[in-house]
Amino acid sequence: MADGGRYLVTGGAGYVGSHAVLALADRGDAVTVLDDLSLGHARAVPDGVTLVRGSLADAAVVERVLSDGPWDGVLHFAALSLVGDSMVRPMHYFMANTGLGIRLIDACIRHGVRRFVLSSTAALFGRPGEQVITEDAPVEPGSPYGESKAMLERALLWADRIHGMRSACLRYFNAAGADPRGRAGEDHTPETHLIPLVIDAALGRRAAVAINGGDYDTPDGTCIRDYVHVSDLASAHLLALEQLDARSVTYNLGSGHGHSVLEVIRSVERVSGRPVPHRIGARRPGDPSRLVAMSERLRRETGWAPRFERLDEIVATALAWREAHPQGYGDR
Ligand code: UDP
Repeated sequence: MADGGRYLVTGGAGYVGSHAVLALADRGDAVTVLDDLSLGHARAVPDGVTLVRGSLADAAVVERVLSDGPWDGVLHFAALSLVGDSMVRPMHYFMANTGLGIRLIDACIRHGVRRFVLSSTAALFGRPGEQVITEDAPVEPGSPYGESKAMLERALLWADRIHGMRSACLRYFNAAGADPRGRAGEDHTPETHLIPLVIDAALGRRAAVAINGGDYDTPDGTCIRDYVHVSDLASAHLLALEQLDARSVTYNLGSGHGHSVLEVIRSVERVSGRPVPHRIGARRPGDPSRLVAMSERLRRETGWAPRFERLDEIVATALAWREAHPQGYGDR
C-alpha cells in the first residue's frame, strides 16, 4: 500500500493525528508534521518524522512548509475539538477551526496540493433520535464545534468544483484506544474524554466519574456514542487518500456499535478488574443523546475493516497505554 509519498500532517502531534502519522510512516511514506504543540506532544511524533513547530495562524510558517513540496497530500487535524468548550466560546471555534482551516485550504490550492483530508466529526449531526447515521443524514450541528467543521466541508466542496483540489471529509465518531504497539496514546490537559477519565478512576488516579446526565431518551438514560479505535481511524485515512485520485469523498467513520456511558464504565470495570466510582451529574450542553455511525460506504468503497470491533478490545489498548504512561507524555 506504500506509495512512497510525502505528506504534510497538521496537528500530527495530537491524538488522532499522531496515529495517522504512525500509519503513514509505518508504510514508508515521508511525513512532516506542522503542530504548534498547544495541545499536541512532541513525543507523540515518531523518529524519522519531521516536526515543524508552528501555528496555522502564522501565515509565513504555513507558506514556508507548503513551499517545501511537492506534497502528495495534506492531512488536516489541527483544531479545537471539544463540544462543551465550543458552547462557551463559539466564535473562538469559528476563528480557530473554520477561519484558519480556510486559510490553510487556500494556501494548499495556491501550492498545487491535489489531495486534502479533513478531520471532520459526528458533531455535524445534532438531531436527536436518528438511529444509525449515514452520510446522507442532514447536517444539523448541535454545537459550534460541529458547525465549525461543517463550514470547512462546504469550503472543500468549492475547492474541488472550482480548483480541482480533491478532498476526503472523514467524520469521526468517538476516537478511542491507543496504538496497539504502545507508541502513542490519548493525553489531553485537562482530560475531558470519557474513556481516559473512566480508566483513571479505575486506576484510583481520580475521584468518581460524573456522568453527564442520566435522563436521556436512551435505554439506561445515559448518552450513546460510537467508539472507534484510533488506529482504525488512521487506516481509513490511507484508504481515503487512494480514493482521491478519482474523486472527492465523504465518509462517516465509526464502528457501527453504540455504547452508553454506563456501558463504557462497565467495560472498563471488566477489562481492568477494578470498580469505577461514578455518579450521575448534570447534562452537558450541546450533547446529542445518541450518535452511531453507518460506515457502510467507507467499507464498500475502500475495503476498510476495523481491526478492533469490540469496546473491550478498544478499552484494553487505552488501559495499557494509561498504565504504562501515568503522566501521559509527561510534558505538561
Ligand atoms: N461524558 C460523561 N462524563 C465525563 C465525560 C464525558 O458522561 O466525565 C459523556 C459525554 O457527555 C458524552 C460521552 O461521555 O455523552 C462521550 O464524551 P466525550 O467527551 O468522550 O466525547 P464527545 O462525544 O463529546 O466527542
